[in-house]
Order: sequence, then C-alpha cells, then structure tokens
Amino acid sequence: MPVNAYLIDELRKILGERVSVSPSELYCYSSDASQIRGLPDYVLRPLNTEEVSRIVRLAYENEIPVTVRGAGTGLAGGAVPVKGGFVLDMSGMDRIVELDIDDIQVVVEPGVIQDKLNEVLKPLGFFFPPNPGSSAMCTIGGMIAYNASGMRCVKYGTTRHYVRDLEVVLADGRVIHTGSKMLKSAAGYDLTQLLIGSEGTLGIITQASLKIVPLPKTRKLVMAAFESAEFAGKAVVKTFSSGVVPSACEILDRTSLKVLKRYDPKLVLPSEGDVILFEVDGTENSAQEAAAQVMEVCSGLALSLKLAESEAEMAQIWAARRLVGAAISRLDPTKSRIYVGEDVGVPMKQIPKLLEKVQLISEEFDLPAMKYGHIGDGNLHVALFIDVLKEEEWTRLKAAADKIHRTAIELGGTVSSEHGVGAARGQYMELQWGPAFEVMRVIKKALDPKGILNPGKLGL
Ligand SMILES: Cc1cc2nc3c(=O)[nH]c(=O)nc-3n(C[C@H](O)[C@H](O)[C@H](O)COP(=O)(O)OP(=O)(O)OC[C@H]3O[C@@H](n4cnc5c(N)ncnc54)[C@H](O)[C@@H]3O)c2cc1C
Repeated sequence: MPVNAYLIDELRKILGERVSVSPSELYCYSSDASQIRGLPDYVLRPLNTEEVSRIVRLAYENEIPVTVRGAGTGLAGGAVPVKGGFVLDMSGMDRIVELDIDDIQVVVEPGVIQDKLNEVLKPLGFFFPPNPGSSAMCTIGGMIAYNASGMRCVKYGTTRHYVRDLEVVLADGRVIHTGSKMLKSAAGYDLTQLLIGSEGTLGIITQASLKIVPLPKTRKLVMAAFESAEFAGKAVVKTFSSGVVPSACEILDRTSLKVLKRYDPKLVLPSEGDVILFEVDGTENSAQEAAAQVMEVCSGLALSLKLAESEAEMAQIWAARRLVGAAISRLDPTKSRIYVGEDVGVPMKQIPKLLEKVQLISEEFDLPAMKYGHIGDGNLHVALFIDVLKEEEWTRLKAAADKIHRTAIELGGTVSSEHGVGAARGQYMELQWGPAFEVMRVIKKALDPKGILNPGKLGL
C-alpha cells in the first residue's frame, strides 16, 4: 500500500508523532518468533482506549487491515501483518490500573508484561498463574488473545480461567465490556470467553480484569527417569489417575537430556532415560504427601527416582529445564530447529501413543526430533531440525509436521495446545473442527463484516 497522505494526516491527529512509515521500523514489525513474515504499511503506538478506538474507526471507514502486537513472542505469526495495513504496538499501554485485593483481582492494560505483574503481586501473597516460557517478555494482551498457558496450567488452568472482564474495541471502533468483576453471571452469551483465544480477529483488548490466587506455601519436586518415552507417558497417566494433581508435569526426552548434558555436564539431571519432572504444591504436609504418592506410583516403572532435597536443588533442576531451548543448538551445529508441528496436544490417555507416533514420524522422514513440554496436560513440544540451506530438508520437514498435526487430530487432540493457530496452522481448522468451523466463520463475519481485524489468521 503506498503511503497515503490523507491517512498519515488523520493518524497524526490521533497519535501525534507515534506514527511511523520508516522502512527500517516497518521491517522490525514484520515478524514474531515464528517463521511467518509480512510487512506492515504503518506502525502505530496508541497509549489509551480512545486512541485505539479512533484508529480502528479510521481503518473501518477505509477498509485497512489492523494487526495488534503485544511483545511479538508468538510462535504462530499471529502478530505478523500478513496483509499489510496498520500494526498497533500495544506495549505502551502497560499500566496496572487497579490492585483490587478485596475482590482478589487486578485490572491491567494489555501491554503489561506477565512477570512484572507477578513481581507486583508477590509481596501481597498472590500470583497470576498462567506462565508461558516467555513470561519475562510476553504481554497479558498477547496471552489472552492466544489463551496462553505453560507449566502450571496442569493444576491452575490456562489464561482463559483467569479473565473476568475485557474492555474491547470492536471492528467499527465501538468500545464494549464483555463481563464484570463478578465471580459469576448467568446473563447472556459469554463474550469474554469468545474473545479469549480469538487472536485479534474479533476485537482489540484494551483492558482486562484478572482473577489472582494465593501463592502456595510449599513446592516439592520429584524427578523420574524411564527406559522409554512410552513408559514415561504411562507414569504420567498413572499419576493423575491415582488422584494426584501436580502443579507442573514436564517431559524431557532422552535427546533433550543428551543436549542438556552436552551444554553443561554438571546439570542436576539423571544420566540416562526419558525424564519426567513432577512438581506438587500446597501446605508442607499436603505437598509432602503428594510427592510420596508420585514416588510410589513411579517406583515400579522408573529407572531412577529422586525427590529434590532442598529449595536450591529444586531451583537448579527447573533452571536446567528452562535451558532446553538454548541447549537445542548442541544437537547438531549444522542444523536449526524450526517451529512447525511444535505444539500438538492429545487427551491424557493418548500421551504414550502420541510419543510413539512422533518417534516413528521422525524416523520415517529421517529428521532428528526432540520432545519436551507440558506432558501433564497432553501438550508435547516437538522440535524438528534441518539444515536450512537444503531445500529437500524443508520438504521433508513440512511433510513430517503435517503428519504430526494430523496424528494429533486423529488421536482426538488439537494442532495447538497453547501457541495458537495464527498464519501457521489455519489449514487444519476445518479438519479439527468440522461443521463448528463454519460457526466460527459466521461469528467472524458478524463481528468484523469488512474483515479488517487480523486478516489471514485462524484459517478464516
Ligand atoms: C521462548 C518462548 C517460550 C514460549 N513458551 C510458551 C509457553 O510455555 N506457553 C505458551 O502458551 N506460549 C509460549 N510461547 C509463545 C508466546 O510467548 C505466547 O503465546 C505469548 O502469550 C504471546 O504474547 P505476546 O505479547 O508476545 O503476543 P504477540 O506475539 O505480540 O501476539 C500474539 C497474538 O495476540 C494478538 N494480540 C496481542 N495483543 C492483543 C490485544 N491487545 N488485543 C487483541 N489481540 C492481541 C496478536 O494479534 C497475535 O495474534 C513462547 C514463546 C517463546 C519465544
């Protein structure tokens, strides 16, 4: 789109100098953490709801695509303006508007960083549980739009379970509230839940009321290694069916373990096997009891079993788990990890099957694959590697990722458990949802008749 003097003039009336069409700046907004690319025509930096509303009204009148961006840490291209137009950088709307501890909730603007919110809540004895691995960077707006989660969701749920009300700018610039500060309401459609996970395709979130919860008093960590990933998967299923709900349940398969050991041989991890980290929390007594139960369930299946002896040892083990992303490069320096097929999920009892099938796919396409992630909620992160300079390896990679996505759907699961659909997985929406996808199209048409909000996403 050539720069339009009328639009520039109108945008400057709303935002002053917070409008850019400089090519270098446009380039900075042309990607997120995925492989998807798309250049915007205008970068806009609103600071309040009124400005967002006026920008969107202008876009509506002139039929210009609007893509919202939080921190750009998304792994599905959601914040990438694949159809050009306006990019709204929400990072300037980063105020914690209200700490309402009496009602056990907070009101925040969408640009607030997840970790910053928890830093403020910690001294008050509370926390906001959804914790993506990117929590040091990602925004609450991006988390709501993707229904992000992370390690703790196995016990505490996803972002969806913490949102009570959203202030939203609709496609024509109108501003609505979707809920209230109430714990419950039986009056009408639940627009809050509709907006969560809608990836900026139905409205722009300008404020959110979030439930918070008390910090647990104690955490305990059990580390178990198994002779195969299937055995590890079985131990997870048995643990949950025994009645324990861990506060985190993470898998590091043997390849992940190997690269972590290569990265730092001194890491406090088992020497062999496929590893599961079970964390439990609660009071000293309840956490102790739950940890003992996990040890008992795993004892017949595991090669090795260890209860972390101190807070410090537990912190070291979690630090090792967090290194997995960085350590991946040690697998083979000639290959790069590509984020495709990386976020599938299946119902709990299908976990062993998924692990087995992913291994077979990796062998069939002759691609190394690391498997790690939030196995306790059925979510497996598959890391596939290729030499990016070899076109033939890209072809095999795409075919393997396609098979992984289809396998997850066949097992009754999802192509994305937490990273979202964006511009990366839209082709599977029909297959996963069947006729329900048509209902999604109708909703999109009703709320965004001109199709200006984040076009090219969600397979819509
Ligand atoms: C190292 C790493 C680890 C990660 N670990 C996890 C993990 O454990 N769990 C997990 O769930 N994700 C994870 N992610 C993915 C990502 O960080 C999360 O999805 C995060 O919530 C995205 O937030 P963001 O602010 O970066 O959003 P962006 O990437 O900027 O945007 C994400 C989507 O939200 C939309 N959006 C943003 N703000 C708004 C708004 N105000 N109104 C409407 N729509 C909006 C965008 O248009 C886009 O569709 C990880 C990413 C990285 C790089």
